[in-house]
Amino acid sequence: MPEELNPFKIAQEQLDEAASVMGLDEQAHQILREPMRTLTVTIPVKMKDGKTHTFQGFRVQYNDARGPAKGGIRFHPQESLDTVKALSAWMTWKTSLANIPFGGAKGGIICDTKQMNEDELQALSRGYIRAIGKFIGPNIDIPAPDVYTTPQIMAWMMDEYDNIVRHNEPGVITGKPLEVWGSEGRSDSTAMGGLFVMREAAKTLGIDLKTAKIAVQGFGNAGKYAYTLSKKLFGANVVAISDSEGAIYDDKGLDLAKLEKAKTDTGSVQGYEGGKKLTNEQLLESEVDILIPAAIENQITGKNADKINAKLVLELANGPVTPDADKILHERGILDLPDFLVNSGGVIGSYFEWVQNINGYYWPADEVYQKLDKIITKSFADTMSTKKAYDDKGTKITPRTAAYIIAVDRVAKAMKARGWY
Ligand code: GLU
Repeated sequence: MPEELNPFKIAQEQLDEAASVMGLDEQAHQILREPMRTLTVTIPVKMKDGKTHTFQGFRVQYNDARGPAKGGIRFHPQESLDTVKALSAWMTWKTSLANIPFGGAKGGIICDTKQMNEDELQALSRGYIRAIGKFIGPNIDIPAPDVYTTPQIMAWMMDEYDNIVRHNEPGVITGKPLEVWGSEGRSDSTAMGGLFVMREAAKTLGIDLKTAKIAVQGFGNAGKYAYTLSKKLFGANVVAISDSEGAIYDDKGLDLAKLEKAKTDTGSVQGYEGGKKLTNEQLLESEVDILIPAAIENQITGKNADKINAKLVLELANGPVTPDADKILHERGILDLPDFLVNSGGVIGSYFEWVQNINGYYWPADEVYQKLDKIITKSFADTMSTKKAYDDKGTKITPRTAAYIIAVDRVAKAMKARGWY
């Protein structure tokens, strides 16, 4: 991976930018440039061919000054320690911006889930928890789902943890199925939160969501729900969607039943009947009002940022826009809202799940969504007002830097109160 696309270098660069604009204390800055704890584990798993394969996994606890470390686990063939470090930093800023009582963490295993059967997946998930079990807990570090990990995987992981500690501990992990005390509203809370932000941003930009054209990159948990909820909540028209194979475009809007049929029959949304096939690159450059990258990092870079046609970019994925692209979008007058604001609905939903688990008292879905709306709408307003305050002083900043300033300031103040510097 070229150094300028190394996610951890990017995360550090973003922090450095915010630190210089806000005049962050140099000692706090040094603490915040590196993770507090980094764990690399090896996980032997007996595979279906009878041979034991050794997988490598990571768990990084970036900072826990504001509360137990919190963040998902990714299963990905290209997983790397630097990616997990970056994602754990972004989790720290995410929980801080949302002002929920957590720090930031992230985990990952280098594996290809598409090549594994269910038994292998379960063995790997349990093996990972045995490897990191001593370092997690409801008041230490609380994992959750992310790319290619599911509620079922969370249930296996919780069960393995319960075996280790010899009691039921649902608050050790979030994003669980409802049967084992997941939360109502958690499965679509990432997308739901992102769409509450979209609603607020559309008001600011004067975009009418009923007539706006939307493109979504990704058909995983975030992308798929972003698509269905855009229609359901706002009657909005999603004209393009993609998965790892490619994209499909229809000016009149895409039909869910046909998309799902394409997925089951051909394995990709590209098998959609009718519509126009596009590459993922073409989807990003399509003529739409709102672009929602909801897949993986480094999608909008210095190479294609000047070809983006949307008025609003909502980063529902983690790290989809590189710093050079961020500048280009900003200069071109495109409102690019940062990942750790836009996708914070996921961890806010997780926070509600954890609170319910700890109290053993459960809420209905509408209560979850209302509380989510309140928190994320405030994060958006805080971000925009911080940006305005700096712009008015003559220091023009991006929404990302504004969000960083709020988040970093809170973490720095918590570290100061604890006497870390
Ligand atoms: N993986 C999600 C994220 O990146 C959710 C994390 C969590 O719920 O802890 O925000």
